[in-house]
Amino acid sequence: MNKKRYHQASFLLSAPELEQLPPDIGSEVAFIGCSNVGKSSAINAVTGINGLARSSKTPGRTQTINLFRLDEHNRLVDLPGYGYAKVPLQLKQHFQELINNYLKTRKCLKGLILLMDIRHPLKESDQRLIQWTIHCNVPLHVLLTKSDKLTHGAAVATLRQVEQTLHGWSASATAQLFSSLDHTGVDKVHGVLNLWFAF
Ligand code: GDP
Repeated sequence: MNKKRYHQASFLLSAPELEQLPPDIGSEVAFIGCSNVGKSSAINAVTGINGLARSSKTPGRTQTINLFRLDEHNRLVDLPGYGYAKVPLQLKQHFQELINNYLKTRKCLKGLILLMDIRHPLKESDQRLIQWTIHCNVPLHVLLTKSDKLTHGAAVATLRQVEQTLHGWSASATAQLFSSLDHTGVDKVHGVLNLWFAF
């Protein structure tokens, strides 16, 4: 497993609209999840670069599609956090449309990493996204974030429940525990990314 590829990540660009994305070639893996789920912290933990994705205590700060370059052909993508109640409805619809259009049209998208807070998994917006990945046959991997907030036993029990639900929906998705705080599951994420990027 070559961690170096992730440690070399660098910020590429912030796209408020699809037109600003780089050409649709190479490979992208996108991170998606509700605001405040720990997405920025997860991208920082996976790349080992603190502050790469602006980790903010202000929910809803990530409002553009942010791209990080791993090498000439491969990129990590930070999609805007969805479902944050305090964002004005109009903005919310704009981000929703931006995410939907990215997911629907991006040919170089190799897989989606869906982040869910282990204490509140499978929210309605998560369920919709999972159903969409099943419909469109997009590979999906779920991170149950902030796993340090539960005891190990409770965390594993939640993981099993989520896996069972995914299985029940005939989703081929995989899931794991994740914590940016104690680095639980970082190696596992590298394994999934290696597979999708074909490293
Ligand atoms: P984002 O809005 O999804 O990008 O979430 P952030 O990465 O900015 O994190 C939101 C809040 O959750 C921050 O206060 C983080 O410090 C906290 N947080 C993120 N990851 C973890 C984690 O693994 N464990 C714990 N306990 N807190 C976390």
